[in-house]
Amino acid sequence: MAKRISFTVIGSGCSTASPDPMCRLRPDPCCPPCKDAFANPLTSRNVRGNTSAAIRIEHDDGAEPDTIVIDCGKTFRESALHLFAREDIRKITLVITHAHIDAFGGLDDTRPWISSSAGVQDHIDVYCTRLTHDGIKKTFYWLFDDPSKPKSTNHLPKFRWHIMPDDEDWKVCGITLSPFQFHHAKHGTQTTLCTAFLIDHSVLYASDVFYIPKTEWTGLREKLREKLTLPTRDGQYTSSRPRLQVAILDATSVFAFYTPHFSVGQAIATARRLGALRTIFTGIPHGYSHATWEAWCRAFAQHHAAVSSTPEEGPKGMPDLWWDWREQERRAVETTNGERDWSERSFFKHAMESVRLWESEEALRQQKGGPARLHGIDTRPAHDGMTFSWTSLQPTHHPHDARAEGLEPHRGH
Ligand SMILES: [Zn+2]
Ligand SMILES: [Zn+2]
Repeated sequence: MAKRISFTVIGSGCSTASPDPMCRLRPDPCCPPCKDAFANPLTSRNVRGNTSAAIRIEHDDGAEPDTIVIDCGKTFRESALHLFAREDIRKITLVITHAHIDAFGGLDDTRPWISSSAGVQDHIDVYCTRLTHDGIKKTFYWLFDDPSKPKSTNHLPKFRWHIMPDDEDWKVCGITLSPFQFHHAKHGTQTTLCTAFLIDHSVLYASDVFYIPKTEWTGLREKLREKLTLPTRDGQYTSSRPRLQVAILDATSVFAFYTPHFSVGQAIATARRLGALRTIFTGIPHGYSHATWEAWCRAFAQHHAAVSSTPEEGPKGMPDLWWDWREQERRAVETTNGERDWSERSFFKHAMESVRLWESEEALRQQKGGPARLHGIDTRPAHDGMTFSWTSLQPTHHPHDARAEGLEPHRGH
């Protein structure tokens, strides 16, 4: 039975969220997006919460829709106050991607949901991997039943924990979430994994990633191939199946390559290799304004195919994983952070440098020796409250049936 599913970006910012308190603290004038966010806190698209999303599933039988909230970070409370009413979100089920405080710090603020006077729900189901569960337990130990201690009489949230497999599909609220464990941060020698999800074979959501291990990359492509078509190495499509509709990818690092997060060029290269029709950047830090991100995305869609590109010569014998982090020195694009130049001109310059670096990786991968261009990708920055929807993919779907509504393509795509 076809299901109607909608996706809302609850938070599109990084761990410090936006505006960044640093722009209140330092003496010189703050960056353009923080200035706008301070002046227009309720309407500015430069106000961004910690990365989070809501998936709303409508049922055919008229039952109350289900809402899966992915991540419940430090800004959960504000996001709930501003966006949940607008989206008519009441009963929630939580999915947590990883054990960082900007992904689970709001768990304690879910108490109103289980309050008898609210009458919404008597517990909250929480789905995550064992690694994430154990990390949360170390921080919020009082949220977990400990049989050796007397029960707390305090008013606590009531969770039902579902510890889910790392590499098998999760069924949550009637839809399939296919999990992939991407590398996110490093603490000493330990790597923090963050669960990315292929949602209903329609949307890839990877909010925190700097490196995709080969096993996960292979697994993701196999999972996509079950229902969708993937591009060949030189970007051709040989099947009439639908393509991946939307890839929502981490771009917190903006242009630089370093361990916690993807950069703009890296996100675009990843989306291209997966054949995603649309790429949405999330985890956006303060610095460049939403309008500047949008202007560059429009220009990229319309003009990049015509821009001549001369990728630099890369090292020979590169592994197939072209974002191998040992190569990070070569991929670091000089950023403007030191100069605090947040102009559109500076964004365009550095974004194109970032794209060209990743084009050089594509050229290596295709072994053509010539330029490879990451054109034809419809990109856009996320903003809090961004919404799109789709009908759950059916085996009989023609490619044109499977389209995400609410995301009009840029001209030039
Ligand atoms: Zn700022
Ligand atoms: Zn994190």
